[in-house]
Amino acid sequence: AEHAVPAVVGRELPVPLVTGGRIGYANLDHAASAPCLEAVRDAVNDLLPWYASVHRGAGFASQVCTRVYEGARDVLRSFVGARRTDSVVFTRNTTDALNLLSRALPRGTSVVVFDTEHHAALLPWTTPGVRRLPAPSSAAEAAEALDGALAACPEGPRLAVLTGASNVTGEVWPVAELARVAHRRGARVALDAAQLAPHRPVRIGELGVDYVALSGHKLYAPFGAGALVGRADWLNAAAPYLAGGGATRSVQDRSVEWALGPERHEAGSPNTVGVHALAVACETLAGRWRDVTGHEEVLLRRLRTRLGEVPGLRELALFGAEHDRVGVVSFTVDGQDPGLLAAALSAEHGIGVRDGLFCAHLAVRGLLERAGSDSHRALRASIGLGTAVEHVDRLAAALRGLVTDGPRWRYAQQDGRWAP
Ligand code: PMP
Repeated sequence: AEHAVPAVVGRELPVPLVTGGRIGYANLDHAASAPCLEAVRDAVNDLLPWYASVHRGAGFASQVCTRVYEGARDVLRSFVGARRTDSVVFTRNTTDALNLLSRALPRGTSVVVFDTEHHAALLPWTTPGVRRLPAPSSAAEAAEALDGALAACPEGPRLAVLTGASNVTGEVWPVAELARVAHRRGARVALDAAQLAPHRPVRIGELGVDYVALSGHKLYAPFGAGALVGRADWLNAAAPYLAGGGATRSVQDRSVEWALGPERHEAGSPNTVGVHALAVACETLAGRWRDVTGHEEVLLRRLRTRLGEVPGLRELALFGAEHDRVGVVSFTVDGQDPGLLAAALSAEHGIGVRDGLFCAHLAVRGLLERAGSDSHRALRASIGLGTAVEHVDRLAAALRGLVTDGPRWRYAQQDGRWAP
């Protein structure tokens, strides 16, 4: 209640969100998971009375759910502008989607990936032919490194793994440019769009990528559903990601004929409600991009300006402070423990940020070094549709107070985390 903010804040949100009346809580951790859209909550509530198994049942509820589930594929297809021949495979999240792709690579595929990737995009590639590239400082450097690495790959299938926007710095990667380089070298491109998709349209054709992976919980839907969209040929030739019901055409005593198409990799009863939530979130955002980007641009500019006024604050950046970015800012403050600051922001100011290495250990360590920071961890503030101007101002004022006067309460470390 101490942090309750005026009712006007609700009207600052461009797309209605489920806040549970907790608008006073400043959720500056959208990059981890975004709050749920009201449209998504309503759609889920409407579906729940019809909740039933898909594909197999003849009953009316099963037919409804089958339509909803398959309809969601069409929504995802149009959300990313998929080609007619692309598959839309539903997964649990981006991590699951990229692991699925890693298992579907033809034998001997060479993979090139930048060290700066989130672990979800960095770690699934277990083929012997993985080349890791150091963090670049510019788009041109990234293109040159990618080109060189792909040129050095042996004959055979190749895959370049890129991120749309960094979960550490929010910087938007020059995907279209890098995809052109990759294609010239005969490589396919997989895009980790987990962090870009909630903020900007992700269009397969315009970016020139072959696969897109994304997560519903970063797109203003609840947890549990994500997707891999992309070229069907490798996916149809690969062993099923999961073996079980729904992924087969026919099973004989000693042989199994696996289905072709997305169901090949979706064995088991699927997450119809989650997939529906994801699809409704995509539909809602697709009709509101101007509102989304307009809202975030204003807030991001304000956030960075206000943070810049905090003494000793160092913002992390790969391509430079002026580079295009979505609403994610990571930073350290000289002489301050990021974990303690995060704990005090939460306990004393009702502000949720994240501290640590953000599942991108190599990226964050490299960025801290570049920034000349004295810290081994960072703080991250990330904004989105649930962010109001007051949240940004509260963060900056609270940080300034913590840095100049110290926390009001005493904190101790418990299991590696600070608590009051
Ligand atoms: N890639 C990026 C850039 C991310 O920010 C995240 C989530 N932090 C992921 C991949 C993994 O997403 P998920 O946890 O939903 O699988």
